[in-house]
Amino acid sequence: MKIIFLGAPGAGKGTQAEIVAQKAGIPTISTGVILREAIKNKTPLGVSAQSYIEKGQLVPDELVIDILTERLSQSDCDNGYILDGFPRTIAQAEALDKMNVNIDKVVNIYVPDEKIVERLAGRRSCSGCGATYHVAYNPSKDGVHCNNCGKELTQRSDDKPETILNRLAVYHEQTAPLEEFYRNRGILCDVVGQEEVADTTSLTLKALGLK
Ligand code: AMP
Repeated sequence: MKIIFLGAPGAGKGTQAEIVAQKAGIPTISTGVILREAIKNKTPLGVSAQSYIEKGQLVPDELVIDILTERLSQSDCDNGYILDGFPRTIAQAEALDKMNVNIDKVVNIYVPDEKIVERLAGRRSCSGCGATYHVAYNPSKDGVHCNNCGKELTQRSDDKPETILNRLAVYHEQTAPLEEFYRNRGILCDVVGQEEVADTTSLTLKALGLK
């Protein structure tokens, strides 16, 4: 099964993608995770991508298409995968077509902009295991360290208020047109993001016919 998760930053794509991936026994491929790892390791890719990410802009199509092509060639992708954060432009979706990637379903998670701002501004993640928290809705036990591994929680540099608004604008301008692109193919299903992760998961699994 090949699934795309669409939705604004902070809509819950990554969280739902991980849950579905575990259930379906396929990997999640997140271009955002790959790029952040490259920045952390100061690789040439990371150096090229950093300034775009910190401004809340999209990394150029050629760079992300190359990353994705390389990742999809790995053997764990043979039985399917979930794409989280790719494609983000029509050109990226067309690149998938050119690679003869046949997408089965596109899950479009909708959360209103006001909620997105609140969610992203309060989002924290563990510097060790990557677990995510929210300062108000899902705080860690002491608010500072991860419940799972005890490492310190950090805020993503692109989750700062001024960058969040830019990311949302970029989403509406460059990524939202993909909804129509996939709706016209009859493979898009809409899921309204709920307050509780488990409620969004129920709707997502139902939309995918996995429940
Ligand atoms: P994410 O973790 O998916 O929110 O991605 C974080 C940032 O990485 C985005 O704001 C973009 O700057 C960059 N990025 C991730 N995926 C893509 C993509 N498919 N195309 C362009 N830029 C991307």
